[in-house]
Amino acid sequence: MAEQAKASGPLPVVPFLRIPAEGAPYLEARCCGKCGAIFLGERENCSKCGARGELEPKRLANEGTLYVYSIVHRSFPGIETPYVSCIVDLEGGGTVKGNLIGIEPDPAKIRMGMPVRTVFKVAPRKDAEGNEYLTYYFEPR
Ligand SMILES: [Zn+2]
Repeated sequence: MAEQAKASGPLPVVPFLRIPAEGAPYLEARCCGKCGAIFLGERENCSKCGARGELEPKRLANEGTLYVYSIVHRSFPGIETPYVSCIVDLEGGGTVKGNLIGIEPDPAKIRMGMPVRTVFKVAPRKDAEGNEYLTYYFEPR
C-alpha cells in the first residue's frame, strides 16, 4: 500500500459531505434539472426520468424531519450500542440515512416526523494513517 500523507484537517467520511475552505460543512446531493429528483453520490444520469448530463450539485438543508428509525442493539466490535439509525427527509428535498444522537435510544422518546437537524462532528476513530474524519449525525431540534 502506498504511503499517504496525513491530511491537514478532517476528511469527509462520505463523498457527499462537503468541507469548504470557508464556512460550515454541508451535505451535497445531485439534482436532476429535468425532473428535480435528488440523489446522493456521484452519477451522470437520472434514474427517475432518464435524463443524461442534467444532474447539478445541490446543497442540502440542515433541517428535516425523522422519516423512520431503528434502535440498533448489536453491531461490530468496538461500536457502542444501543444507537439510533435513522432516515431523515430534509427540507427542500433529499433523503439521508444516518444516526440520531442527542436523544435516548428509547421508542417512548423518539417520534416519527419529529424535527431534526444535521450536525457535523469529528468521528471518534482515526484510520490507520492517523487521519481524522468529519461525519454527520442528526439530532432533535
Ligand atoms: Zn430526472
